[in-house]
Amino acid sequence: MEQIKKMMHENKIKHSEVEYTGEKCDGCGRDLKIVQITFADGEVKENESGCICDRIKFVNDQQKKIKADAFAKASIMHGDYKEKTFDNYQANSDEQVQAAKKMRYYANHFDDMLSESNCLLVQGTFGTGKTHLAAAVRNQLRAQDYQVLFISLPDYVDKLKQGFKDLNQVHPIFKFAKEADLLILDDVGANRMSEWEVSELFRLVDARRNKCTIYTTNLTSEQFRSSQALYRVFSRMMEKAKAIVIDGDDYRMKGVK
Ligand SMILES: [Zn+2]
Repeated sequence: MEQIKKMMHENKIKHSEVEYTGEKCDGCGRDLKIVQITFADGEVKENESGCICDRIKFVNDQQKKIKADAFAKASIMHGDYKEKTFDNYQANSDEQVQAAKKMRYYANHFDDMLSESNCLLVQGTFGTGKTHLAAAVRNQLRAQDYQVLFISLPDYVDKLKQGFKDLNQVHPIFKFAKEADLLILDDVGANRMSEWEVSELFRLVDARRNKCTIYTTNLTSEQFRSSQALYRVFSRMMEKAKAIVIDGDDYRMKGVK
């Protein structure tokens, strides 16, 4: 309005009209209006909203997008996992069909999952497509600007080890992993873990107690029981996690002789 007055004073605006639409802003309840400005040169401009809420929403959406981008950048996805969707997942067994169904449900109802801090532990042998399904969840939610960090445990551990000198500071990858709306920690137990690695895993799982995490693993619960330290991690992981077990044939080997 100040700007309009100034421009009127400078004679750039011939006149302005305000018309109330009869509707109220969803955000603040103020009456919505259309401001029509006629400029001295005959040009007419309409500003439909008349409410600052639209602009606040725009700024918030932009900030949400910038944050989501940072989590996408910090993610490590190999090969073509960024292209994986539920539609291009090829289920070859009933377990795989069920797993895909449950994980799609998780992605489709993510706000509910967030409010209940629901987690998933996806267990299956090599090649059953658990990483594909986890990537599909990530790709769907990333497109909606959720803050999703996708990283395998071996890559996470590598990141922790490399190039971070300031030991008094929290490692950036830990910060991302701790703060994400959803952490997808792929391939838990894929490599034999050192004592330090198991303790770092526990630290991470513990830091996400009230958050949404999807773990994928080829370890059975029996194998998690093989060491006390690992079992402690497993117990913490399972506090709020539903287990999804995928068996079926090794689907990456399909059609390969
Ligand atoms: Zn408003």
